[in-house]
Amino acid sequence: MSYVIYQEEKQKAIHILNDVKVKLYHRGWFPATSGNLSYKLHNEPLILAVTTSGKDKGTVTHEDVIFVDKDGQPVEFTRMKPSAEVKIHAGIYQKTDARCVVHIHTPNNNFISFVYFLYGKVKIKDMEMIKALDIWEEDAQIEIPIVENYFDLERLAQESVKAVNPEVPAILIKNHGIYAWGRDEFEAKRHVEAFEFMFEYMKNMIIFKGSLDVF
Ligand SMILES: [Zn+2]
Repeated sequence: MSYVIYQEEKQKAIHILNDVKVKLYHRGWFPATSGNLSYKLHNEPLILAVTTSGKDKGTVTHEDVIFVDKDGQPVEFTRMKPSAEVKIHAGIYQKTDARCVVHIHTPNNNFISFVYFLYGKVKIKDMEMIKALDIWEEDAQIEIPIVENYFDLERLAQESVKAVNPEVPAILIKNHGIYAWGRDEFEAKRHVEAFEFMFEYMKNMIIFKGSLDVF
């Protein structure tokens, strides 16, 4: 199915991605050109704007964003390559109500994904910051799935998307990073900030207590 992307829609998506990208870059969350972000323009057919591969995310150029379909294929002519992880983004949009997906590699998310990998998930409870995920129940508890970091990107995408639970807006990939999302760019940013806060706290508690039983 062909779909015409209006110039206005494109400019809006580029503006949003650049804005979030630079803000998160200044938190040190896109080291060594790692990580990527995307923004959904259209549902059926799925069209998303996604950051290109191998670019320094602290600067904004005309070649930072491309538009792809549900298979990660560019929908218009471009010399640039989408991020190799674009299929994970596309899969998340197909399984959730996300409008914006953020993927970052940090020492804290790598640590947490590694130490809890054998459990297949990391549980978080008794933290005020859970409210930043719009979960307001008393004694709220969340479980973030953790996926193996398959070398084969096709398999990595399949397993990652399979692990997505629409109730919890993130997945972790072992010793790799987090994918977090939201219904708009503000929510996606708030969610990834909340997760990184909780991971840092947990890492410190694990070291302090000498145990994975943090709560
Ligand atoms: Zn990655």
